Amino acid sequence: MRAMVQTGFGGADVLRLADLPVPTPGPADVLVRVAACGLNQLDVLQRRGVVRLPGLELPHVAGMDVAGVVEAAGADSPVPVGARVLLDPSVPCGACPLCHEGRGGHCPNLRIIGATVDGGLAEYVVAPASAAHLVPDAVDLVDAACLPTPWATAFHAVVTVGRLRAGETLLVHAAAGSVGLAAVQIAQRVGARVIATVGSPEKAAALTKVGVEHVAADPDGVAGLVAEVTDGRGVDVVLEYLGPATWTASMAALRIGGRLVFLGNTTGDQVSFSLSDAFHRGLELLGAGGYVPSDMAAALQLFADGGTALVAGTFPLADTGVAQDLLCERSTVGRVLVVP
Ligand SMILES: [Zn+2]
Repeated sequence: MRAMVQTGFGGADVLRLADLPVPTPGPADVLVRVAACGLNQLDVLQRRGVVRLPGLELPHVAGMDVAGVVEAAGADSPVPVGARVLLDPSVPCGACPLCHEGRGGHCPNLRIIGATVDGGLAEYVVAPASAAHLVPDAVDLVDAACLPTPWATAFHAVVTVGRLRAGETLLVHAAAGSVGLAAVQIAQRVGARVIATVGSPEKAAALTKVGVEHVAADPDGVAGLVAEVTDGRGVDVVLEYLGPATWTASMAALRIGGRLVFLGNTTGDQVSFSLSDAFHRGLELLGAGGYVPSDMAAALQLFADGGTALVAGTFPLADTGVAQDLLCERSTVGRVLVVP
């Protein structure tokens, strides 16, 4: 099979298109013919060697967000040959104390398809059948490759941890990112209102495309919009992944008893805030942690309810390096896909 193999650490020139044997599924595995693979920043960080997750070995085939068709299945696989599936790249061991506690996202033996074991930048990939989720008929397989990491991450943060429910209001900063676009659509589907901030008019247009009414193209202007939409009450939940750049605005936007869910530090790792303001208002500051398989299943069902997959570009396997360059452009809106 053809596969894009990472042979070293550095620029796109460490990627080589190679002919590898088709992998053989074990008894509890499935072999998936890849329809499309969504790229993630982790692919590029590991290619450059900036991040090396434990277990990563060269040569490596990246590609975490995979959708495709089951071509072969081990004897113990409940997922049949021919099934349309997406793969949850995060594979907890299922046996350690944290897995038993329902915190598989923190499993010390966590394997990640496309990050610590070979992934979907190839014609075929092997995965545990437990990682394969059936894709509803209403969902296109290429669209499904946009989902796994961002939709499961967003569902976990907004619904599982943030407890967002119908009638509430969610504020999302940098909402044109892949997690942000998933979060706003998940919020709409649980019956919540959404206020989004973005960094440019082009990104605001992407939010309008997925039906978000209240968009501030300037994150500094969000206070007025929050006051207007919530009649001065403040939002119920904020999803925060920028850190220092938006933290103060996020705290200020919360209603009394509001919840701030944070899962990123892209503008820095240290923030400061008034303890007395936070305890007087009864704010909940909630670190999101890693998603678990039930988040993925629930997110997929919500997407099947008319979700939109925004695609920035689709590339053949041979152009993976070009696709990764597009992924790194800050102006990109939507997922970058490779179709082997
Ligand atoms: Zn475990």
